[in-house]
Amino acid sequence: MKITDKKRALVAVEELKKLYPDAQCSLESGGDPWRLLVMARLSAQCTDERVNIVCRDLFRELPTANAMAAAPVEQIEGLIKSCGLYRGKAKSIKEFSEILVRDHDGCVPDTMEELLALPGVGRKIANLILGDVFKKGGIVADTHCMRICGRLGFYPEGQKDPLKTERIMTPIIPKEEQSDFCHRIVHFGRDVCTARSPKCGECPLSEVCLHNNKSQKSGKTSLASS
Ligand code: SF4
Repeated sequence: MKITDKKRALVAVEELKKLYPDAQCSLESGGDPWRLLVMARLSAQCTDERVNIVCRDLFRELPTANAMAAAPVEQIEGLIKSCGLYRGKAKSIKEFSEILVRDHDGCVPDTMEELLALPGVGRKIANLILGDVFKKGGIVADTHCMRICGRLGFYPEGQKDPLKTERIMTPIIPKEEQSDFCHRIVHFGRDVCTARSPKCGECPLSEVCLHNNKSQKSGKTSLASS
């Protein structure tokens, strides 16, 4: 009997938990919601390591939404230049800081609708904030999450629509696990299930992975195919 996607997803959740007991967001925001929002915006097409470095100086000079909103956009551009796409990023972090100060007392809102209304904030960032800050759950469909969930067989491999990933994974990953699952899968995607050469032979998820099961020529039974 084929086990359900929900059961396979739970196995993946538990195995990743064993592999990465400490599910940490690689953006070092220090638990500050506004800083996490800024860092998530800066991380588009940039590494988290670079964002962490850049933000040490950025937050030293502009430590709050009030300070960011009041700063000239040229100053922000200069501080974030090495993150790439700095003009668009500077514009949106200044503009959303202005909106937060004006409409939300400088605080980050806790609904998808309000988050999506902020300039430069899409569903990926909104889900990160909802899950990490407000513990409401949220599938952050980044490149690692999309690739690995496809390989695991929850949808066709190679599907690159983040909204589809979010819609498929949200009902099968328990809400309270979603945020940590997404942090863990980023580490897993860098260490084991890499884009070019996944290390299936040493992967703790291999028993429930359809990519691995398809690749195997031996015809061995597994959880995913039995
Ligand atoms: S078995 Fe291979 S393809 Fe499947 S999750 Fe593990 S590393 Fe990725």
